[in-house]
Amino acid sequence: MSSKRIPMIAGNWKMHMTVAAGREFLNALEASLSVPDAVEVALFPAYTAIYPLRQVAKQVRLGAQNMHAETEGAFTGEVSAPMLRELVDLVLVGHSERRHIFGEDDDLLNRKTKRALEHGLQPVLCVGETLKERDAGATLERINAQIEGGFAGIDKQAAQKIIVAYEPVWAIGTGRTATPQQAQEVHAAIRSILEARVPDPGRIRILYGGSVKPENSADLLSQPDIDGALVGGASLRVEPFSAIIHSAIRLNPA
Ligand code: PEP
Repeated sequence: MSSKRIPMIAGNWKMHMTVAAGREFLNALEASLSVPDAVEVALFPAYTAIYPLRQVAKQVRLGAQNMHAETEGAFTGEVSAPMLRELVDLVLVGHSERRHIFGEDDDLLNRKTKRALEHGLQPVLCVGETLKERDAGATLERINAQIEGGFAGIDKQAAQKIIVAYEPVWAIGTGRTATPQQAQEVHAAIRSILEARVPDPGRIRILYGGSVKPENSADLLSQPDIDGALVGGASLRVEPFSAIIHSAIRLNPA
């Protein structure tokens, strides 16, 4: 982590947590924490839990897991950027489950990223290679295509607000984590790709995601280009999530 960038520990709850469970979690998490200004904590609940959690969140930023690329219209079941902006200021774009289960491609994710920025939401653009791509030596090529695709046509000043999450697909929900060196290598590559896309790549936050847990968080977070974690499974219980947050706080005392 660099002192130029505030690390973020973010929990992606996916399709877990009712309103009651989410509230209980958030109350317990807030009670277990005193988050210094030097660290940010965020949660991405299901749409249904966003509003009730908004009422109780004090130290935790809230975001949505997805959004539609259009502002409004006949898109039954979808939620738009201006609707979300009333409640949150973050949105995940292109989580690997959106790319692989729901077939979202770089062009659609670019439109979502632009729309999010247009409405004052800070997008967390997720990228990551499959195991097949890694084994074929195509990791950086894939990441380059996803970053170039996601950032295409975005004004440099606006692009500076984007948070990137590197989440190797083979490490998500598998218990298999990238080694700190593997992750650092890709994070550094992402930062150098961004040299052409933003005024100050040294200030872009790049989170790592993929089976982050209390046992590996400190090693990952101490890499120079890893600016936080996007946590799935370990964000569903207060104890491990709080332990990951505390490892970031220890590395970034106020
Ligand atoms: C995720 O869903 O973004 C994720 C990283 O999941 P997990 O931590 O469970 O691998």
